[in-house]
Amino acid sequence: SKATVFEKGKGTNITFKDVAGLEGAKEEVEEIVDFLKHPKKYTDLGAKIPKGALLVGPPGTGKTLLAKAVAGEAQVPFFSLSGSDFVEMFVGVGASRVRDLFKQAKEKAPSIIFIDEIDAIGRARGKNANMGSNDERENTLNQLLTEMDGFGTNSGVIILAATNRADVLDSALMRAGRFDRQIYVDMPDLNERKEIFQVHLKPIKLEKELDVDFLSRQTPGFSGADIANLCNEAALIAARKKKKAVSKQDFLDAVDRIVGGLEKKNKIIT
Ligand code: ATP
Repeated sequence: SKATVFEKGKGTNITFKDVAGLEGAKEEVEEIVDFLKHPKKYTDLGAKIPKGALLVGPPGTGKTLLAKAVAGEAQVPFFSLSGSDFVEMFVGVGASRVRDLFKQAKEKAPSIIFIDEIDAIGRARGKNANMGSNDERENTLNQLLTEMDGFGTNSGVIILAATNRADVLDSALMRAGRFDRQIYVDMPDLNERKEIFQVHLKPIKLEKELDVDFLSRQTPGFSGADIANLCNEAALIAARKKKKAVSKQDFLDAVDRIVGGLEKKNKIIT
């Protein structure tokens, strides 16, 4: 994903039906969709439309998907960048990227700006002061704060940012008029995993109807991204065996592979 620092304001065709579970989060972002579609409804009453919201939750739970769905539902362009892209940037590049992105988003307003992994640029300032790229990161963060303050509340641009570490973020980001709303995007429970399976089984050619309840019970601790990956892995396993359709056993084999991978990833090397 390093190559796509931002997708230049293309709309997305992702909608809320692509996002399984996450009822609470969807309800909260529905209001943002309404801000984008019917700003007058709010401004006529003298209300200030929020500039940004922070999507907080573990990796792979659908934060990016939800942000894209907001743009898709409101039918507005989606501009995105990832905090991790700024980590090894030359001096001045980060800040000018941010400036460019806001300029484009304002020109195309109403629009959405999505900043993934905002913690990579938004860590509290003044910590790790001896780390090399710190100054540039701070410049980028300062530019972001400047841009957020610089545009009027009713500019039609709404900024969504995602993080799994809200606790490390600079408090300046959370101040009123910036990311003053936090929306939680949690790991799916048993029922939500079923709904996620339903979405990701759709394109898969199955040997016979699969019991999603069974699959959901086999996958505690799986995120939405893990489930998407599992469905694809099962199809790859079936293809490797030159089968015409994917069986329950292929799914169980895929669970084993993925659980093995997760265990390796979580192993502490001493
Ligand atoms: P990260 O923090 O790692 O960037 P994220 O929370 O932004 O993760 P996404 O990138 O949105 O997660 O999820 C990756 C993929 O996993 C999605 O494109 C989708 O295929 C699948 N997925 C995740 N959550 C859901 C969900 N709630 N419903 C349907 N699919 C999901």
